[in-house]
Order: sequence, then C-alpha cells, then structure tokens
Amino acid sequence: MKIAMCSSEVVPFAKTGGLADVAGALPLALEKEGQEVIIIMPRYKAIDTAKFKLRKLNSGVLTGLAGKNIRVYFIENEEYFNRDGLYGDKKGDHPDNLDRFSFYCRKSLDLLQEIGFKPDIIHCHDWQSSLIPVFLKTVYSRDPFYKKTRTVLTIHNIGYQGLFPGEEFPKLGLDRSLFNMEGLEFYGKINILKGGILFADIINTVSPTYAREIQTEEFGFGLEGVLNKRKDSVFGILNGLDYDIWNPQNDKFVARNFSITDLAGKAKDKEDLQALCKLPLKKGVPLIGIVSRLAEQKGLDILAEGIDEICNLDIQLGILGTGDLKYHQVLQEMAAKYPKVISLNLKFDDPLAHKIYAGSDIFLMPSRYEPCGLGQLISLRYGTIPLVFKTGGLADTVNSENGFVFACYSKTDLVKTIKKALSAFKAKTKWDALVKNALKGNFSWDASAVKYLELYAKAKKK
Ligand code: ADP
Repeated sequence: MKIAMCSSEVVPFAKTGGLADVAGALPLALEKEGQEVIIIMPRYKAIDTAKFKLRKLNSGVLTGLAGKNIRVYFIENEEYFNRDGLYGDKKGDHPDNLDRFSFYCRKSLDLLQEIGFKPDIIHCHDWQSSLIPVFLKTVYSRDPFYKKTRTVLTIHNIGYQGLFPGEEFPKLGLDRSLFNMEGLEFYGKINILKGGILFADIINTVSPTYAREIQTEEFGFGLEGVLNKRKDSVFGILNGLDYDIWNPQNDKFVARNFSITDLAGKAKDKEDLQALCKLPLKKGVPLIGIVSRLAEQKGLDILAEGIDEICNLDIQLGILGTGDLKYHQVLQEMAAKYPKVISLNLKFDDPLAHKIYAGSDIFLMPSRYEPCGLGQLISLRYGTIPLVFKTGGLADTVNSENGFVFACYSKTDLVKTIKKALSAFKAKTKWDALVKNALKGNFSWDASAVKYLELYAKAKKK
C-alpha cells in the first residue's frame, strides 16, 4: 500500500508532544511491514538541515530520509515556518496558524501530484492536517489523481481543535455553504478538526477507551455529537512505543542496563538517580517518578492539592516537567519545604527522562484524561510500576497485574492509591511480581502497525 503520513511534527525532526513520537515511529513500523510510506511535514526553523542531510527538491520543498528508505518532505515557507515555535511562542498561539496550516495542507496535496506519489491512504493527524480530507473531498473532488485515495484522521487529543474567527473562513477557499452547523462552523468559529471528522473516510484515536470517551459530553470538548454521527467510522488503536529508543537493555542514558532476567541494573539506576537528584541514598524508600507536561490534563490539579500530604509519606519524588506557571509555583514551594523528598526539575530534558523511567520504583500519571499516554508505556518497559487514573489509554494498558489504578478523580483517591502502592512496595514478592508483569508487557509498534493496516483496508473500502 502507498501511504502518505501528514503530520505537523515528526520525531526526530520536530517534537512538542506524543504526536511527534507516533508520526515518527508508525512509518518505520509500516515500512517493516513492507508498505511504501512517505512523510510530509512543515520545514520549521528549528529543524537542523545539516544534521539530517536535507537537500532541496525544488524552490518550496526540502527532502531527507527516515528509516531505511522513507522519503520525508519538508514544506518550506519563509513567512509561515521560518520562526521560533511550532504553533506559538511565549505570547501564545501564532495568530496566523490558520494560514500556516491551511498552506501546509494545500501544499501537501499539490506535492503528492508533483512527485507522482498517488497514495492509497493519506494519514492525517490532529487539526493541523485536518484540512487535507476537507480539501480532498471539495477542491480536489474531481481530480482523477486522487480518485482512489482515502483518508484516515488520527485524533491525538480532542482538546486541541484549531479554532479560528469565523471571518477568516474565506481564506480557506472553500464554498461558503460549508460554514454552517453541518460543516466547519462551531459556535460562530471555524473548527478545523470538526472539518477533518466530517470529511475523513476513517477517524481513529489512540486508544479504544478514548475512542468511546470522546463520544461523550464529558470528554468530547463539544465534538461528541459530530463524532456520534460518524460512530461507525470511529476506531481506537493504542499507540506503540518506540522499543529502540526506549530499551532498558541498551539505553545509553542510564547508569546500568537491565532486563527481566537481570534486574540488578535497575537498583543501580535508582541509586544513580537519587544521587543526581540530590535525594538521600535509600534503597527501601520508594522513589516516585513524574515526567510530564505540568498541566491540569495530566492530573496536576489533584496532585497539587495532595502534594503536602504525599510528601509526609515515606517516599521520594523525582519530578521532571514544564507547563503552567501555577504548578511550577506549587511544586517549587513544596520542593523548598521538603528538600529531602522532592527533586524538582522544571525543564525539558530527554536524558533525565530516561533516568527517571529507569531509576524510579513507581511512575505517577494521574491524568484527568489521556488519549493514549506514552509515559505509562515507557515506565512499564522499564519495570517502573505506573499509578494512574482510569481513563483513556491508561485504562487500556494499566491494571492491577502491572500497576495501580484509581477510578474516582480526586485528591483523596490519588493519595489513597499512593498509600496502597507503598504497602505493596514493602511486600517484596508481590512487588517483584508486579515488576515482572510490567516488563513482560508488549506495547511495541509492530502490533499497532498491523492494526493500522487493517484500518487502512477499511478506509479503502469506503
Ligand atoms: P503528551 O500529552 O504530553 O503528548 P504523552 O505521555 O503522550 O503526553 O507523551 C509525552 C512524551 O514527552 C513522553 O515521551 C515523555 O517522556 C515526554 N516528556 C514530557 N515532558 C518531558 C520533559 N519535561 N522532559 C523530557 N521528556 C518529556
């Protein structure tokens, strides 16, 4: 099958979140399955053209390689993409994001024709590439080149929809009749993701539970009705984890490698992490790791509420993250109050993330909602026991065999479950069994890629 992967961020070229991990790893897994894949993304200022050996294809496109032989195309535009920040800067979202990403979508469709790549499937991700299915079924609907092309739209987080003032609608070059309740209009605004949901042949999200949740008022961010209308075309496929990047057996960032048959290295990694974090070197005290955006979505509200109480338990906390300033402040206050309990690292630091996943005993991820979540998958891969709220991908991957799950989103239940984990930690045989179960899990991309191929086959039948 010929697949064009269209994503606004792709590892290793540009990343702000889990979307980039998926858009980077899925093509590699599809290539392994013998599929012909190309990737199309914007050429941001931050992309290191020398490092990735990119060359000019024509005046508006750079190209490079990923995997064995996946061609990656970077859409250039001096005005739109040669600036700091993928979607915004300190002042907030870039005000011209509609122009930037509608340009990217139009150019992607033109580029496919220019290079003669007639895709069976265009796989779009989130609102940034959601205009592709819209353009395909409107502007390009009579174009024979795309006659057999079908689209799949993956929603990574329905909280981000690409909302723009209604007055900007003419910029899209779409028929005015599409700006109504049955089309891209959403309470007077343009909603780009809504367009994608309406026009894509197949829609999926990144876990089966999240696929169900977003069709409810509680999780749908206003799009539950639109999704409900298309419920026969909505699916959920768990993200895989890049098992080459996240591998305790050969991870270069950790002090000692380890595996299910030789766990001595994990104890050493804990010591190393405690030393690095300037926490007391205590084997018997459970070290809880957090690697996260510090945002309400990630459960920071109930964590902030309970942190004083949590710090009075016999634990250590290694926190790595950046996000909302109010949570920076709460955590800073607590780190100052409990210097022997909390190591606070308010930054983005990939090597430190690896050390935390490897060296912690417990990984805390109390997300209020979580489309799939990578943190809990990484922690399972490193035998670090996840403690999560029962939602989305967390509910699909963590259970009482490999972790701790709480079902009522509150500070009380969070603290109660931490206490439960602490007593389990003291029962060595029970804990060892949890660690082994975690390490036995398989969340590699191979299984997910096969499921995506089945989804593409469904789209082809549309
Ligand atoms: P998100 O909603 O942020 O995409 P995910 O759990 O799906 O959440 O993915 C987050 C990814 O970003 C994980 O690979 C996680 O390890 C990484 N990450 C988050 N914050 C940091 C940080 N401060 N430093 C390093 N890596 C981080």
